[in-house]
Amino acid sequence: MKIWFDGEIRSQGDTPVSVKSHTLHYGTAVFEGIRSYTTCAGATPFKLGAHIERLFRSAHALGLEIPFSEGDLRCAVQQVLEENKLTDAYIRPLVFLGEGSMGLDVQTIENANPVHVMISAWEWASYFDHGKMTGIRAVISNHRRVFSSPALVQAKASGHYLGSYCAHMDAKKGGYDEAILLDEAGYLAEASSANLFFVSRGEIFTPYVKHALSGITRQTVMKIGVDNGIRVTEQNSRPFSLLAADEAFLTGTACEIVPVIAVNGQRIGEGKVGEVTQLLAQKFSHLVRSAEQQSMSPQFSINQSSAPAIN
Ligand code: PMP
Repeated sequence: MKIWFDGEIRSQGDTPVSVKSHTLHYGTAVFEGIRSYTTCAGATPFKLGAHIERLFRSAHALGLEIPFSEGDLRCAVQQVLEENKLTDAYIRPLVFLGEGSMGLDVQTIENANPVHVMISAWEWASYFDHGKMTGIRAVISNHRRVFSSPALVQAKASGHYLGSYCAHMDAKKGGYDEAILLDEAGYLAEASSANLFFVSRGEIFTPYVKHALSGITRQTVMKIGVDNGIRVTEQNSRPFSLLAADEAFLTGTACEIVPVIAVNGQRIGEGKVGEVTQLLAQKFSHLVRSAEQQSMSPQFSINQSSAPAIN
């Protein structure tokens, strides 16, 4: 496998990373997950510009200065796909701190830690395997989605995933496929690495992004809903709203759109993949492989419920 590392293509075993890398010790890194699909124009990473922009915003939130331009990294993504002869693939850019200061202060004059960038890609069919077709079983986690500052919520930072990891692994040990995390006030936030939606009486609801990543797939799915005449509302909801919903699903680059058919052992709706979920998944699958995917306008309007959550 070929990796783009600090501006050069290298073999995977030939990427110089020290065991004293700051990131290995403190989780000081930011990353992206991007999917490329086969379109009539060849391998086309979906919303590449938006993902690279988010990588730079995440880096900025952690004070990491990426020593390349957004354009450089967009080209590097294409180069990695070509070098590995990949078309339908998952792409992982990572910005991390190398060896230097072993304390938290990375700007000491003698020992400044270099910012490294690597981009890797591989075939990754679906994060939830069979679950994408038949639906997954989730559990509400005891771990909460908590951030130390509002500025960090939208940073796709490696350190954030410690909570996601613990929640996901606890769910797996309990026999579930995935964890759903609440925010500190007990409202639904998101899954361990995907955004959460539910459908009630034909309308789509999703938590605000105050305690969740503003997912690129989330935005895309909300637009598909609105474009298909379905009302989409962001609101604070208690777990009860999810348990009482007709359908539920998760969205994310790795998992795409995954139906959730049970939560805490209780069926959601009829306990099978719902009609709205199916429609959105079909439209999404068509969009990512279509020629117009890049030119899709992000403009659409959704409802924001200012009413206090009733359940
Ligand atoms: N929330 C979290 C915590 C995530 O890690 C991801 C995956 N990036 C998402 C939501 C979904 O984001 P996107 O649709 O941009 O992949």
